[in-house]
Amino acid sequence: MIPIAKPQLDEAEIEAVSDVLRSGIIAQGPRVTEFEQAFAEYTGTEYAVAVNSGTAALHAALLAHGIGRGDEVITSSFSFIATGNSVIFTGARPVFADISADSFNLDPELIEEKITPATKAIMPVHLYGHPADMKIITEIAEDHGLAIIEDTCQAHGATYNGKKAGSFGTGAFSFYPTKNMTTSEGGIITTNNKEIAEKARMIRAHGSKQRYLHEMLGYNLRMTDISAAIGMVQLKRLPDYIHARQRNAKLLTKGLEGIDDIECPVIRENCGHAFHQYTIRTRNRDQLSDHLKENGIGSGIYYPIPIHRQPYYKELGYNDSLMITEKASREVLSLPVHPGVTEDNIKTICTTIKEWSGSEC
Ligand SMILES: *Cc1c(COP(=O)(O)O)cnc(C)c1O
Repeated sequence: MIPIAKPQLDEAEIEAVSDVLRSGIIAQGPRVTEFEQAFAEYTGTEYAVAVNSGTAALHAALLAHGIGRGDEVITSSFSFIATGNSVIFTGARPVFADISADSFNLDPELIEEKITPATKAIMPVHLYGHPADMKIITEIAEDHGLAIIEDTCQAHGATYNGKKAGSFGTGAFSFYPTKNMTTSEGGIITTNNKEIAEKARMIRAHGSKQRYLHEMLGYNLRMTDISAAIGMVQLKRLPDYIHARQRNAKLLTKGLEGIDDIECPVIRENCGHAFHQYTIRTRNRDQLSDHLKENGIGSGIYYPIPIHRQPYYKELGYNDSLMITEKASREVLSLPVHPGVTEDNIKTICTTIKEWSGSEC
């Protein structure tokens, strides 16, 4: 079986976790601080605030920007549910704009028409590790005085014009085991804004800077030193992981080019695609997925139902028609591209898809 995702863990992580357990400081402690500094440096931001999931990072980032009841946040419906839910947690309303067909990210041409007096932020999702169109999004945000909160949960290591994803606005990363690097569960907020970082730190710890003095409403979103220790090992390897993903993506595209009814992923100019997912389009997505499974190849559909079409969102009254998003949700299929995928695996994947395509016509 070639799995769709596989965390890369070995003795180094086991050692690091054992050291934490032996130290006796197992909740948030010095290793979290060390990890925050290392991650900020990697991303090219001044500050990083570690939390216990990507969802928590999005939630705390929104709250740190003062987003709440009555506010609107423009974002993508073609994403994991946490993108929309984190906005709803704050009392604000996610407003969904359609995506570009080639990059699967927010179509910047469709953002401005969604801006109302209630709009407070734009939340682009760097889906699959392909950076969103940050030049235009930054211009729109500046013109209208809006915050940028980047859903960077799939885009550790992605770049736009040479700058890392998560350094354009306030970044929110996830370290779930299937992501580009892991801490088991975990997340982090990146920012160059000291006030936002300080507020995020307070939100993480029940609204307190000083123990048992609570200046605002907060939560318990803390990362543990156990997670941070895993994160330190993984972060050192992240450039190699991204390199392996990019190499695998290149080999996949080479092997799949020219096959009928298969559209390979696009890398836009000035974009460093981190290839969290290698996502093709095909009109016969479900048959191909079954065929791959019969041949021991994992694949994934990210995401089969856009956020605005989820039952809970229907209940909230969402009834948008987002044609490009909906078409994508019917056609996308992600193939194994993670660092554990070998050249031989890629040959197997490409041959299996070729056979399937041949038998289709
Ligand atoms: C994984 C993910 C999240 C949520 O991260 P968790 O760590 O699972 O909470 C949010 N947005 C996107 C796009 C993701 O892929």
